[in-house]
Order: sequence, then structure tokens, then C-alpha cells
Amino acid sequence: MALKLPSSLSPSKVNTFRECGYSFKLSVIDKVPQPTNLWALRGTLAHRTLDRLYFEVKKGDRDRGAAREIFDEVWKKSLAQGELCTLKEWSDETKMEQFRQSTWEMVEKDFVVEDPNSITAIATELLLEFESNGLILRGIIDRLDLNADGSITVTDYKTGRVPGTMQERDKLGGVQFYALLCEKVLGVSPASVQLIYLKESMAIISRPTPQTLKATQSQTQAIWRAVVHACENDNFRPRVSRLCGHCCYSSICPAQPVLGSTDDCGPSQL
Ligand code: SF4
Repeated sequence: MALKLPSSLSPSKVNTFRECGYSFKLSVIDKVPQPTNLWALRGTLAHRTLDRLYFEVKKGDRDRGAAREIFDEVWKKSLAQGELCTLKEWSDETKMEQFRQSTWEMVEKDFVVEDPNSITAIATELLLEFESNGLILRGIIDRLDLNADGSITVTDYKTGRVPGTMQERDKLGGVQFYALLCEKVLGVSPASVQLIYLKESMAIISRPTPQTLKATQSQTQAIWRAVVHACENDNFRPRVSRLCGHCCYSSICPAQPVLGSTDDCGPSQL
């Protein structure tokens, strides 16, 4: 029986589909909840803090003290909302304090990569979406900056490791997706898109061109066709890779017995 199509595509959905069709089915089609983990929550808290730093604090006042104040508020709110107690490390005070410190250090790394007081942020957590051939493309831009020459830059924070060369292409593909959204929704193509890897204090910058935007649109349409085909045939295959070690669905994945192998279980979806 054909499966229900997802209502939209976003950079993270595209990445998930590329990495493993079965994981895409579980998260996007079946909507199997993903348990909160330390890494995901660390990323969320760091994003919230930086979002507020650039949105609420005016240029010139964005120092570590201001960031720490916001971080402490974000932490308290997360505690009050019960987010932190969903972690299995919750009952261990030492582990939680280490987690709190490492999350703050992640935020602080932004000051190593860039000078927040030199940034004119015109939007944070900006939701953009447009429809193309019946497909809704949607994405949330972490930060949109206005450059001195009037051009704009898209910034996306990353809390994982800097990717290898092959993965870097995929990650930049995600940011090109944001550039495409800017062009379609705001009517302007960003001069640059940057991924800020907080953990390793590194920025990877790419400059979109009409060709890369066109290629991104074509690739996204191709992925959508592959998703439609997989839904029509209920054919989302597990794709075993080293990413399985971090997959929250590994306990319910039919490929589980061969975890650890780097061979694909089935043909690529594209
Ligand atoms: S464990 Fe691996 S193969 Fe299975 S769903 Fe997760 S990423 Fe895909």
C-alpha cells in the first residue's frame, strides 16, 4: 500500500533521506519519536542562546558576559520545562554539571570564530518556505546577516564535528538549500553561506552562484521524485553506514544484526 507523502522537504529531511531511506521513513513518514539525547539537547540550548544573543542584544554589547546571562536563562527555562530531566544523565549531578559546562563552552566558541559585535543580524530563526511544482520547500535559517556592501549572508550553526570532504559537500548542499529559499522567498540570493562548527571553532564558507542554485533546485526535485517513488512502493531500505552508531532507531531497525558493517544493505535511493 502506498504511504502518505511528507508535506514538505527541508534540508534535514533531504540529508536524512540521502543517508538512510529507512531512517527517513521512521522519522518523517511514521513520525516515530526520537528520544532526547545529550548531543541533540546541547545543540538546541546553544542555538537558543546564540539566537537570543544576536536578536536581543545590540551590536557593541555582545560580549561573553551578555551571552552567559542569556545562557543561564536558557538553562533555567529548559530545567523548568522538564527538558533536561528527559536525559538519562539527569540523576548524576556531576554529569549534568559537565554537560552544562560543555554546552556553555560550545556557545563561547562562537566568539572564537567571529566577532559578534561586527555582525548586523537582520533575522534569526527565520522560517522560509515556497512551493515548486507541488512540492513545499521549507527551512529555518539560524541567522541572516546584512553585509557592509548591502549583500546578505546565511549562517547555520553546527554542533557536531567538522565533516570529511564527502560529507562536507552534503552539508554545504543543505546550506545551498537555504540560499535557494532566500532567492525564491526574499528575492535575493545571498553573497555567501557559512556553516559555523562551534565545537571545533571553524567556519566553512561557500558562495552561491546561479549555477549552484539551479543545481540545488534540480537535486531537490530529484530527491522528491525518489521520495514519491519510495512512498508509492513502500520501499525505504536501511542503509548501513558508520552513522548507524548514532542512529536513535537502531534498536528497531531490521538491519540491526549487521550494524558495524559499512556496506549498504540495499541500493541507494537515488
Ligand atoms: S540503524 Fe542504520 S540502517 Fe538502520 S535506520 Fe538507522 S541509519 Fe538506517
